[in-house]
Amino acid sequence: MSAAPVKIVLLYQSLLGIYGDHGNAVVLTKRLKWRGIDAELISVDPGDPVPADGAVYLLGGGEDTAQITAVNQLRADGALFSALDDGAVLFAVCAGYQICGHSFTIGARDEVIEGLGVLDVETRRGPERAVGESLSRWTRPDGATSLITGFENHGGWTTLGSDATPLAAVEKGWGNGDSTTEGAVQGRVIGAYPHGPILARNPELADHLLEQALGRSLDPLDLPEIEALRTRRVSAVREGRP
Ligand code: GLN
Repeated sequence: MSAAPVKIVLLYQSLLGIYGDHGNAVVLTKRLKWRGIDAELISVDPGDPVPADGAVYLLGGGEDTAQITAVNQLRADGALFSALDDGAVLFAVCAGYQICGHSFTIGARDEVIEGLGVLDVETRRGPERAVGESLSRWTRPDGATSLITGFENHGGWTTLGSDATPLAAVEKGWGNGDSTTEGAVQGRVIGAYPHGPILARNPELADHLLEQALGRSLDPLDLPEIEALRTRRVSAVREGRP
């Protein structure tokens, strides 16, 4: 009997889909299939039930008010919490990252909205909007480091509590806001600011999520054209070129 497909669950693209972060789901699904592992991309719209048996759940970036609708729907649905309790991975970008925290404010209103509380972080409107290409250094669980590149565009600045650790150290750009740390990790929940989509631009991060979800290491994929593109992008960000 063949194994059930690995489910990659893309949450609420109609709310949190304006930055193209759905590409992260495509990348994860492809990287599994390229290795001969059966995978299924499941896109869940607001109001539809969230499957509780996903391996990786993905949240993307979006506009301020869409974040409130998304957080309310996810809380009402509840399945994401059960999936995380069962060991699923959640990878959330920008607005998606912000809603994973305890609370966030939106726009100029400064109204504090309760988040999902699956990351020990809080987001408040920052003194400046953080926009531009970013580069940060991610220390992988094996101690090796790898660069993360992407494009950030956020008004919220995020502060980490003691249960969350930064995903990476900022070399260029804003990261969580003050240009020191980028993103947050707590168990199998990872939040990050860069779009790109980030997993297309950073295949090692994509494979890290898959390895966590599968509980085993994966053979590297030999994709020289992706490596060449990545090398060009890293030097462009370092040198401030478009
Ligand atoms: N609305 C949020 C902010 O501006 C998130 C933006 C985004 O997802 N890029 O902080």
